[in-house]
Amino acid sequence: MPSHLLAIGAPERLAALRTALPATALAAVAVLEDGGFEAWCVGGFVRDALLGRPIHDVDVATNARWQEAQRLFAEAGCATHETGVAHGTLTVMVGGEPIEVTTYRVDGAYRDGRHPDAVSFAGSIEEDLARRDFTVNAMAFHPSRGLLDPFGGQADLTAGILRTVGDPRERFAEDALRILRGCRFASQLGFALEEAAWAAAVSQKSLLARVSAERIFHELDGLLRGEHVHDALLGTADALSFVLPELVAMQGFPQATPYHIYDVLEHTAWAVQHVPPEPLLRWAALCHDMGKPAAAFTGPDGVGHFYGHAAVSVELARGLLGRLKAPTALREGVLTLVRRHDDVVEPTPRSVKRMLRRLGGDPALFRALCALKRADALAQAPRCAPRARLADELAELLDAVLAADEAFSLAQLAVDGRDVLALGVSPGPQVGAALQAALDAVIDEQVPNDPAALQAFLADWLARQ
Ligand code: ATP
Ligand code: MG
Repeated sequence: MPSHLLAIGAPERLAALRTALPATALAAVAVLEDGGFEAWCVGGFVRDALLGRPIHDVDVATNARWQEAQRLFAEAGCATHETGVAHGTLTVMVGGEPIEVTTYRVDGAYRDGRHPDAVSFAGSIEEDLARRDFTVNAMAFHPSRGLLDPFGGQADLTAGILRTVGDPRERFAEDALRILRGCRFASQLGFALEEAAWAAAVSQKSLLARVSAERIFHELDGLLRGEHVHDALLGTADALSFVLPELVAMQGFPQATPYHIYDVLEHTAWAVQHVPPEPLLRWAALCHDMGKPAAAFTGPDGVGHFYGHAAVSVELARGLLGRLKAPTALREGVLTLVRRHDDVVEPTPRSVKRMLRRLGGDPALFRALCALKRADALAQAPRCAPRARLADELAELLDAVLAADEAFSLAQLAVDGRDVLALGVSPGPQVGAALQAALDAVIDEQVPNDPAALQAFLADWLARQ
């Protein structure tokens, strides 16, 4: 038995791993071992279980080839999917849960910095762990054999350090995505990259040019949703700047106004931290003030102003979300929130309905806007805290508007295009314009939302055109 296996630790750690291990993963290991192979639970499961964090999936590594694993699981009555068999990965359905089973492997050279030129299967779990990115991700656990930790992952977990397995320069040159994985784990775990790893991340960030937009987006999305995102954004900005060059102008850009105590980047980092960890809100918070450095000017009073910055932020956000191939629905939602984040919404039903109208009548987007406004206020000077309460008030008003079934979109209006045509208007843009005017009048509480009153309003409006 290898010595590091004997050195494994504290019984309470093993107990934590045993408790956290889902029955489905235990069953998958048993199927492989009853079939005469060896299997270990690896990756994020071991790390997260030792940290006492929630477990979301368990990866299993084995010396069985995928065809052998497929045969054993079929015999055990489990469906399998050939999701990544070129890399030795089979997805196995155990008790309705997917488990990724991967043959021990060593990756060949990465000439393109993106894909291993060849994947060769390895004879031992130790070789397989050696190809993994960080020591905290390079441990294996077996329900009866215990914890295998050849690279000091436990010590780094305790110290909160992300250290690469082997020379960071070589490991990042093999696959530059690991630079962003490091930044993402810093945000999720609150860890810091070890000194040499950080130096390599910063000096080799341009290698990220070889990595696909989708993989970059995935890591940045994980980073933004991390619990420690404020610290991670500020702490890793110099590595992120190759994929998010927009951060550079924000870094250290002063906001010499009475409302702000932070530079644009730190204000942004706080705003991201203060919105709930959903992609729409986190990306919108990241982008909301991105246009400030370009929009800034100093007035004759010596005070800095940022008029029109939301429009510049929209353009920068459009560029970066397009470049990163972000999903279309996310892109559209983020651009709308960024465009509207600084619009004044009074705490009145009328003002709330007007904003709802500008948001295409989407109450979920309105709630997101309230969350963004709230976080934006909390990320400013303490004197702006009342504006956070205003955002909460707007959310309450929204509930009241929805409960009262008040009209804020054309679909809810008591008249439609046929009513306008019936007044002698020919089909064309004037029909829409008349309905918009009617909706404005209803939102402004000049006309009640009933057919007779609105028909009278329309007749009058058309006569004035
Ligand atoms: P999470 O699932 O929480 O994102 P994870 O650590 O499980 O974290 P995965 O992307 O699921 O991350 O990968 C599983 C394991 O595979 C990792 O723990 C790591 O050991 C290894 N791994 C993943 N991507 C890489 C990579 N680019 N280079 C080296 N090893 C990697
Ligand atoms: Mg995982």
